[in-house]
Amino acid sequence: MTELVVVGAGLAAANAVRTLREEGFGGRVVLLGDEHERPYDRPPLSKDYLLGTRERAAVYLHDEHWYEANSVELRLGSPVTGLDRAAREVEIAGGERIRYTKLLLATGSRPRRLRVPGADLAGVHHLRRIGEADRLREALHAGGRVVVAGAGWIGLEIAAAARSRGCPVTVVEPAPTPLHAALGPRIGGFFADLHRGNGVDFRFGTQVAELRGSDRVTAVITSDGQEIPADLVVAGIGAHPNISLAEQAGLATEAGGIRVDASLRTDDPDIYAAGDVAAIPSARYGGRLRVEHWANAVESGKAAARAMLGHEVVYDELPYFFTDQYDVGMEFTGHPGGHDQVVTRGDIDGRAFHAFWLADGEVVAGMHVNCWEEGLGGVRDLIQTRRQVDVRRLSDAAV
Ligand SMILES: Cc1cc2nc3c(=O)[nH]c(=O)nc-3n(C[C@H](O)[C@H](O)[C@H](O)COP(=O)(O)OP(=O)(O)OC[C@H]3O[C@@H](n4cnc5c(N)ncnc54)[C@H](O)[C@@H]3O)c2cc1C
Repeated sequence: MTELVVVGAGLAAANAVRTLREEGFGGRVVLLGDEHERPYDRPPLSKDYLLGTRERAAVYLHDEHWYEANSVELRLGSPVTGLDRAAREVEIAGGERIRYTKLLLATGSRPRRLRVPGADLAGVHHLRRIGEADRLREALHAGGRVVVAGAGWIGLEIAAAARSRGCPVTVVEPAPTPLHAALGPRIGGFFADLHRGNGVDFRFGTQVAELRGSDRVTAVITSDGQEIPADLVVAGIGAHPNISLAEQAGLATEAGGIRVDASLRTDDPDIYAAGDVAAIPSARYGGRLRVEHWANAVESGKAAARAMLGHEVVYDELPYFFTDQYDVGMEFTGHPGGHDQVVTRGDIDGRAFHAFWLADGEVVAGMHVNCWEEGLGGVRDLIQTRRQVDVRRLSDAAV
């Protein structure tokens, strides 16, 4: 019997197993997850679920009966600890081995932990799992002074949620603006203004160096000696891909992830990778990209499932990301690495605009803020066609 095994029960995995059944695969499907929850969506954990405006039931990717109804053997609380490629078996904690004909690695990422003195005090939070969101939601509900370490996407969303709850919020960030490395100072500055306008206090150019308190955290000490009173500290300082299983099994890695070809196959023809862990070739940008975003996990999970069934697959989606903060909804596409110019179009102060990242006169990435009618359609076209753009026309909202 053909046995398709998926390691990791997150977004890419859930989309993969659904696709296997939708494509008519009738053999055995096993889904192995180390968490105790069936697959759920993570974006709400820093947005409406954190705010308490989305029900728990609405974050799950399938209802609880779906797995049995579709003959998917969902094994929760089952961390995969070993991968024996010669025997074509995975081992789960406790020693049980499960055979596979084809295997999909969809193990996602884990948050980078704050590693400073006092990081184990009560009141210090990281956010990746639904249980962590529950604890943070409860803590925000109780109120208190919040310090967020890191002004990346998750840090900013947590800051917005905390402000919506009425908590005083300070964000500590080593760079001179939020999202500085990713988007550059101008658009980073837009997000800084947005948050300042909503009462967030930023401390740029410094980082969290120590947390003080006896049992609970009471203060954050920054690397330049500032003391910030805190009842709650949340780390939003990035994530590490979970690739140790692949590394131990000797699979090739690149760009911090598991190296795959355009059909999402690793250098072992029976093993595939999708989602946050996969380093995927990009025709548009050259080399391989590892993308830690929702849409990539959905689409690469589906594509890997089709490839495992023997369909011809060429996965080459542009990276796509969205965020919601206060009254700002934003969509972003492309890869701004190596850009030499940023062009905006529309009304930045009125919070309705597009921004484009250019390299050598070509658009490499673009985003819109609150321009839902135009969206990203034209932006994707500009990126894919690689045509030289006239910056004057690009920035003129009348064109
Ligand atoms: C709070 C938060 C907010 C986000 N907001 C956005 C957003 O607004 N927009 C956006 O585009 N993206 C967002 N993301 C990113 C997006 O959620 C991820 O890119 C996506 O979840 C990746 O899916 P995945 O399936 O690759 O990994 P995951 O969803 O991380 O799932 C992987 C699963 O595998 C499990 N696992 C790992 N190792 C093993 C093992 N050895 N054995 C068994 N199981 C294992 C993990 O515990 C996890 O359950 C957000 C992420 C977080 C945490």
